[in-house]
Amino acid sequence: INDFGIEKTLKNLGISKENKGVCSGGKSFANGDLIESYSPTDGKLIAKVKSAASKDYDKVIETAKSAFAEFRMIPAPKRGELVRQFGNKLREKKDDLGKLVSYEMGKSLQEGLGEVQEMIDICDFAVGLSRQLHGFTMHSERPGHRMYEQYHPLGIVGIISAFNFPVAVWSWNNALSWICGNVTIWKPSEKTPLCGIACQNIISEVLKENNLPEGISNLIVGDHKIGDQLVNDKNIALVSFTGSTRVGRIVGTNVAQRFGKSILELGGNNAIIISKDADLDMSIIGAVFGAVGTAGQRCTSTRRLIIHESVYDEVKNRLVKAYGQLKIGNPLDEKNHVGPLIDQNAVQQYLDSIKKCKKEGGKFIVEGGILEGKNFESGCYVKPCIAEVKNSFEIVQHETFAPILYLIKYKKLEDAIAMQNDVPQGLSSAIMTQNLREAELFLSQAGSDCGIANVNIGTSGAEIGGAFGGEKETGGGRESGSDVWKYYMRRQTNTINYSTHLPLAQGIRFDL
Ligand code: NAD
Repeated sequence: INDFGIEKTLKNLGISKENKGVCSGGKSFANGDLIESYSPTDGKLIAKVKSAASKDYDKVIETAKSAFAEFRMIPAPKRGELVRQFGNKLREKKDDLGKLVSYEMGKSLQEGLGEVQEMIDICDFAVGLSRQLHGFTMHSERPGHRMYEQYHPLGIVGIISAFNFPVAVWSWNNALSWICGNVTIWKPSEKTPLCGIACQNIISEVLKENNLPEGISNLIVGDHKIGDQLVNDKNIALVSFTGSTRVGRIVGTNVAQRFGKSILELGGNNAIIISKDADLDMSIIGAVFGAVGTAGQRCTSTRRLIIHESVYDEVKNRLVKAYGQLKIGNPLDEKNHVGPLIDQNAVQQYLDSIKKCKKEGGKFIVEGGILEGKNFESGCYVKPCIAEVKNSFEIVQHETFAPILYLIKYKKLEDAIAMQNDVPQGLSSAIMTQNLREAELFLSQAGSDCGIANVNIGTSGAEIGGAFGGEKETGGGRESGSDVWKYYMRRQTNTINYSTHLPLAQGIRFDL
């Protein structure tokens, strides 16, 4: 632990050896099971967290409800001021929080810091937005009448997040929720509970400094049981869920049953088409970073390369060479390109997928495997691998959250686009080409069916300014920039009659 000054980092973020995983209304408490957080980087226990029991959750709801009654009456630009101060506090804590993200989740330090930067960026975005929650005005068909639309806060927003972006996803949701006047309850992944506590400690400070109710931001650490309680609670107006398609299907169905709102950000199966007119230098960098960055544990990780037959062999040979140069090891050491998977369970899924791929006829041109021995004690380090496959293989249709890259050959661009679209998921996609016709076809309505479609950029990583999310089994939700804030508010149409008559719409007469 001492190797990376992590003890000091934990102290700076207010994390002890034993923590209470419910933080609400300025108090910490918890009566559920104990969760132990181990770092996948070195397999060491970082700290323990007592999780939320069902009765703890009930208390949190009461606190959140009363905070909402107060918070909704604060003008949106003033709520923006809260978010501005939160962004500033994140700037102060960036190094510590980035390091904790890297240590607890296992991504590179650069990516850990990048996640915190993303939190800061969305705060900046939300501050400006807090003065721009505009509705339309429209002309009434009735004389002496005025019509307009306005947006009101929803109430309590529940945020359930995945392990792989342990802090940024929370910020995407809460920065928008707060300027919109909502209060939030966050259930982070039980695999990264300390990141949750660290974030909550930061916002608690800001709320205290501003004398605002601390129930504006609440934390409940726990597993699927407490997640399920939140999902089925009619007090939660909007459930923003980020995670696997398997769990998202359950969450989406349960929220819909009670006519709640949901934002679903689920699994991806992202492809880059490398055309005959691609800049191959750029294509190789984009593909390798997309496939092995975060050890293939991004929802936007590149899983498939669909390569034109005329450049197939060259791309393949260059990939093999590039993979030969990859350094695998502790992600806090900036020399390494690839860190560990989150846990042994993820390693098993990686091994199972390789086995399945071979069984279906996949030919591995870079072999996978587990790394053992010194510096790999956690048992979570695996070799990024590459297989030549058919798009129709069952395993290729499935998102394996690990660095396994599939190569597929194509002749005609239309076939490449059809293959790119022929998977259940629809998150991110890209084409590498310098040919305008190809690029425009890919972006057209006959092109990629994904929520994100890029030209000459890989599939992985996105800026906060755009709406982020995907179609089909990725869930259809959108988070972050553009006009996504509208998901976090309820829309109301208002008609005001300032005349001395009461004319009915559509000219309907009702004489008494
Ligand atoms: P997961 O589905 O296992 O868990 C996600 C969260 O759901 C966790 O907090 C978990 O405790 C909770 N949960 C589990 N069962 C639940 C239930 N029945 N009710 C309510 N909550 C429940 O996912 P993971 O392994 O943590 O994350 C990886 C997955 O997330 C991948 O599929 C990845 O593609 C996806 N992801 C998607 C996006 C996106 O924006 N589309 C972003 C990040 C991750």
